[in-house]
Amino acid sequence: MTEAERRAALEAIAAEVRACTGCRLHERRTRAVPGEGHPSTEVVFVGEGPGMNEDREGRPFVGRAGDLLVRLLGSIGWQREDVFITNVVKCRPPENRDPEPDEVAACAPFLRRQLEVLDPALIVTLGRHSMGRFMPGTTIGRAHGTFRPADPATGARAALVLAMYHPAAALRTSAVEQASFADIALVPSVLDDARARRAQLGDVVATLPAVAPAPAPLAPPTPDQPAPESPPLDQLTLFR
Ligand code: SF4
Repeated sequence: MTEAERRAALEAIAAEVRACTGCRLHERRTRAVPGEGHPSTEVVFVGEGPGMNEDREGRPFVGRAGDLLVRLLGSIGWQREDVFITNVVKCRPPENRDPEPDEVAACAPFLRRQLEVLDPALIVTLGRHSMGRFMPGTTIGRAHGTFRPADPATGARAALVLAMYHPAAALRTSAVEQASFADIALVPSVLDDARARRAQLGDVVATLPAVAPAPAPLAPPTPDQPAPESPPLDQLTLFR
């Protein structure tokens, strides 16, 4: 799938989300929040559900939790535009309550279809509800900072999943904030593992798209040679 095809497929899903009345959460939403990000990224962050600011703007992870997510990404040299960010449920649960199991189930096909289109190498779950979709049978206290292969039934046919706390929890507790910075520091190396795993699976899964290898390191400029400019964003190795 080309980047343009992926972008169009994601926008088609987003249009369905914005018109969806598939569960009771549509009744009190201001705007649905389908998700956003680079259509060719290798990394997808999945939160739980929109909060008040997200509901107002129709975008994921804006407000204080979004600011912290941006800082977490910045700590490993990434920007939010480098990844795709979405949620398990696309409409705000009233009073920020936890999404009900039937609401999560009703919304699940949208996330599955987004992951089918994005075909990420790495999924990072944010919070226990997101973790529960990809790592059932454990707790966020045990699972954060750990990773495992994603069940292809999630839509991600060859991805690793890394669990993290939700940024909103990190805003409440400094120990969770410290753990979150430690967990996100693992992301680049887990992405490398995920790429290696996909390369191996490529022998089996003939249709798996190739993932761009990391570029060779640049030689330092000689004194009479100008330093190269930073590569544009779409040349970073985070994109296929
Ligand atoms: Fe539809 Fe999901 Fe919103 Fe429920 S939460 S109304 S299933 S988009």
